[in-house]
Amino acid sequence: MSSADTHCPYCALQCAMTVSHAGSTTVTGRDFPTNRGGLCAKGWTSAELLASPQRLRMPLTRQPDGTLAETTWDEALDAVAAAFRDTKAAHGADANAIFGGGGLTNEKAYQLGKFARVALGTSRIDYNGRFCMSSAAAASNRAFGMDRGLPFPVADLDEAQTILLLGSNVAATMPPFLAHLAGARAAGGLIVVDPRRSATARLAEDGAGTHLQPAPGTDLPLLLGLTHIALAEGLADRAYIEERTTGFDALRRSVSAWWPERTSSTTGIPVAQLRETARRLAAGGAYVLTGRGVEQHVDGTATATAAINLALVLGLVGREGSGYGTLTGQGNGQGGREHGQKADQLPGYRSIRDPEARRHVAGVWGVDPDEIPDAGVPATALLGELGGPVKTLLVAGSNVVVSAPDVDAVRSRLKALDTLIVCDFFLSETAELADIVLPVLQWAEEEGTMTSLEGRVIRRRRALPGPEGARSELWIMAEIARRLGAASTWSIDPAEVFDELARASEGGIADYSGLSHALLDTGVEAYWPYRSSGTPRPFAEHFAHADGRARLVPVEATPPTPTDRGADLTLTTGRYLQQYQSGTQTRRVTELHKARPEARLEIHPATASRLGIRDGVLVAVSNERGTVRARASVTTDIRHDTVFLPFHYAGDECANRLTEAIVDPTSAMPEFKRTRVQVKAIPDATTPAPHHIAASPVVVAEHQGVAPPLVGVAGGAAPGVLITSATSPSAPLPSSLSPSTPSSSTEEETHV
Ligand code: SF4
Repeated sequence: MSSADTHCPYCALQCAMTVSHAGSTTVTGRDFPTNRGGLCAKGWTSAELLASPQRLRMPLTRQPDGTLAETTWDEALDAVAAAFRDTKAAHGADANAIFGGGGLTNEKAYQLGKFARVALGTSRIDYNGRFCMSSAAAASNRAFGMDRGLPFPVADLDEAQTILLLGSNVAATMPPFLAHLAGARAAGGLIVVDPRRSATARLAEDGAGTHLQPAPGTDLPLLLGLTHIALAEGLADRAYIEERTTGFDALRRSVSAWWPERTSSTTGIPVAQLRETARRLAAGGAYVLTGRGVEQHVDGTATATAAINLALVLGLVGREGSGYGTLTGQGNGQGGREHGQKADQLPGYRSIRDPEARRHVAGVWGVDPDEIPDAGVPATALLGELGGPVKTLLVAGSNVVVSAPDVDAVRSRLKALDTLIVCDFFLSETAELADIVLPVLQWAEEEGTMTSLEGRVIRRRRALPGPEGARSELWIMAEIARRLGAASTWSIDPAEVFDELARASEGGIADYSGLSHALLDTGVEAYWPYRSSGTPRPFAEHFAHADGRARLVPVEATPPTPTDRGADLTLTTGRYLQQYQSGTQTRRVTELHKARPEARLEIHPATASRLGIRDGVLVAVSNERGTVRARASVTTDIRHDTVFLPFHYAGDECANRLTEAIVDPTSAMPEFKRTRVQVKAIPDATTPAPHHIAASPVVVAEHQGVAPPLVGVAGGAAPGVLITSATSPSAPLPSSLSPSTPSSSTEEETHV
């Protein structure tokens, strides 16, 4: 039997687990500050996919008849190298492009950035984290000089009296996190901002706090109004503002017009609730947390900035017992945005336009600084270049045919490429379009590191070998680089690649130079920046700007400008408890798929009645870009002017057929959360024609991701969380918590 202490393959909470393999593979929750032994449904079923019959086990190449057929690694890699070489010769280096992912280990993300700049010489690299964290990152960099999602340990939240949680449905995305909200709930101070009565919003009811339900797209006016109240009522911490910030006078002027009545009429939130929220935040022990619901907008950077401004004005940031943070989504959403797979970035969160950064990194890579290309373009613009200036694309760890905005246009552009290469462990919807598919290893089959939402670098460890025929992306990049005769060295050992990453990051904002796999294996608490030590609270004494002060940055709210004619409802998207991102993995897990087998459109009863839609009928959701088929779920949890779809499905059910490729001007974050649509019942439709992946029940029997014995439920108030112990006796599960019928099958996610 082999086993390894590692972490969950999915979200950035990076719950600790032990993976054991002896014929079948099991996962057991392990004590760790973020999850305290708990796992959600995604985590406890994660082992199932390791032996899925749908795993890719050999490279595939497109045949003359249009099918994909297995081939050898040599033939596949020779074809990849030839495509990159021929494209560069015919169209220039920037005609080759790379699209990475926020789930890749730090080592792979680092190597991917180096591979693009050194082996291909292209500036065209970006990744799906642009769709996830870019607005919050831009706001934090501007305000604090550093983008570390939570500049404090998650466990600090336990003592909070008040938590203002904007645009994040943690009850669905990361249920073990709920244990950290227990203190604020007990104090009546959980304030959830969401246009939908989400699972998390319900936790703020019955004396536990407040659900603020603003009109979609009015988060920014809400935050400006709260800051106005804080200043008008003398709640601001003037000594803190004077000592630790700059820009106060301009900020004060910028919020002066957002008096409570105007804020209320814009957002729909009563004045009394606005005042009560501001007063609670000023009363001590308060945190402001943001998620994708307020960030995935064309004004996402401004909204995240307004949240930071509110926290700074109240003196919350950098003090023990209070704070501001943003909840990272993807498993390595934090580390994946630090080491070079962003278009404008070199390792260590350095700017690719900084001559000193270029010199330092070029020295580590053994190349001339002038050989490093300039900044490329962000993800949405890069996807827009496919089939035009970009002729050959390699995708690693991303399923853009489901996750990008306006996916029908993305699909057309992918088809217009000369060569599409996809690295994945399943034939994702993007891989289905590829000319060459390269099978890779999964999380429990590889060594590496991830960086959690707290900025803590943690070890991913191998528990079992991968399928014969699958390879690590590090090996794939090394083999292609060798075929291209690329400069530098291309290790396939994750520990060696990490050491190189550490050297390349030295002196950067995200400095990992004091870390190594060996040190991490000692269990050291490795929060970056880490040279000889790290700190969980980097802003305790100063911010990362040269003068040590945070920037108060005035931002303005501008009215939304709907662009879709004939559309009368606002669509917002998210995911449910059983779903992780584009679904390449979780749509293939039997239990998760059974709980959510098809797309459901949440619609208010009054709206449904007006449109002649009954609960359970099939509806067409459409706008200028396309039409999505879903089954109506009539619920008072949604506003009458808003509908909700999960973005987890593909084909006819893919919500991103409707979203528009317009972006935030600062972060290039697409507008995912506010799309104009119309909804109609589909006459006489009795069965959907969805794009479903068959899950694999046969595999479950022989190679199962089982739920370990239940010994407790976090705080008695954390739906969907199992607290487990490998040594506890088996105990029957309450039916509401049985892993085969997850307790939170009705818990939904609005904002990812
Ligand atoms: Fe995995 Fe769930 Fe924990 Fe996220 S909350 S890391 S998906 S077990």
